[in-house]
Amino acid sequence: MTFKILVLPGDGIGVEIMAEATKVLDVLRRDFGLDLETIEGYLVGGAAIDAFGNPLPEETLLAARAADAVLLGAVGGPKWEGLAYEVRPERGLLGLRAELGLFANLRPAVLYPQLSDASTLRKEVVAGLDLMIIRELTGGLYFGQPRGRRTLANGEQQAFNTLVYSESEIERIGRVAFEIARKRKKKVCSVDKANVLECTELWREVMIRVHQDYPDVALSHMYVDNAAMQLVRWPLQFDVMVTENMFGDILSDAAAMLTGSIGMLPSASLDAHGKGMYEPIHGSAPDIAGKGLANPIATILSVAMMLRYTLNMPAMAEHVEKSVESVLDADLRTRDIYTENHRQVSTGEMGDAIVTALRSRK
Ligand code: NAD
Repeated sequence: MTFKILVLPGDGIGVEIMAEATKVLDVLRRDFGLDLETIEGYLVGGAAIDAFGNPLPEETLLAARAADAVLLGAVGGPKWEGLAYEVRPERGLLGLRAELGLFANLRPAVLYPQLSDASTLRKEVVAGLDLMIIRELTGGLYFGQPRGRRTLANGEQQAFNTLVYSESEIERIGRVAFEIARKRKKKVCSVDKANVLECTELWREVMIRVHQDYPDVALSHMYVDNAAMQLVRWPLQFDVMVTENMFGDILSDAAAMLTGSIGMLPSASLDAHGKGMYEPIHGSAPDIAGKGLANPIATILSVAMMLRYTLNMPAMAEHVEKSVESVLDADLRTRDIYTENHRQVSTGEMGDAIVTALRSRK
């Protein structure tokens, strides 16, 4: 069976980093015999607004539906910031997540030993960090209805959003967390605010119920404010964290910074059948776009996640991950992870070095 991968570079550095990820896909196809086809030429985000006046054109959505996986660079930039919310580049991303039913967002935060000086935390606090945050992605406050603004009788403006989750939504993200924990250190920490919010009280009840099917995994609970504190106090205590949409949005960014550079971190967003969209967690970095300064590793590691979670090829995923490590071992660094006594390389040079390392693993 041929795996169809829709490649969407998007905007800004998205184009540069995707060029490097595509080189990796080419090696996987040519040298490792992977039966995959890349589908290219479709637009999303700002580029799609410029061409079609729509951040998620129908043809892009159809191509995404037809593909087995989507590999996405990044969207957005100052050029489109003044537009209405409904036609902003980010709507393209939210639209893809919602339309494809990508409810489970997996964000690993791994600190490579070679980069332990790049973290803002002390080495002894973060060394060995290998954490997976699982964020519910299609429910909660960002999607709940009713939402909007209204004018009160006294003329004052009021705005409101709704935090809402049904049992089935909580159950399916819980199952993803327990399944993934089974392949790791078998520890799940469910993050909520059950002391204040009814919605997350239900969240906790459902997590406890689902856990009965996974007696080999340890389940703990933590309030979100404490979880934020514990992430910077003692991050090594966590293996898998699972939480609702907004809490996950915030906690996963905090966890990302523990690892030093946003340019190193991949992510996956999965549907109920393992289909996924894979993308670096960073944005389009307009400040460095077109200068050869972007770190392509987050995108290349997103390819590794795709191999692991959609194509079910963990050994192949490991080849890609080990190739990244070997290049770091060889002291190659893009500017964002550069520290003294290393060699600074461009986006393309980093991609080429990873591809060479990958070929040598055949
Ligand atoms: P950003 O992630 O683009 O950049 C933040 C900082 O990190 C910048 O200094 C940038 O140069 C640096 N950086 C990011 N990725 C890097 C990489 N691969 N290598 C080296 N350095 C890197 O966030 P921002 O500046 O807040 O947002 C810029 C645009 O991206 C905005 O339009 C925003 O809406 C959009 N955005 C998109 C996504 C996405 O597509 N998933 C995510 C976040 C932000």
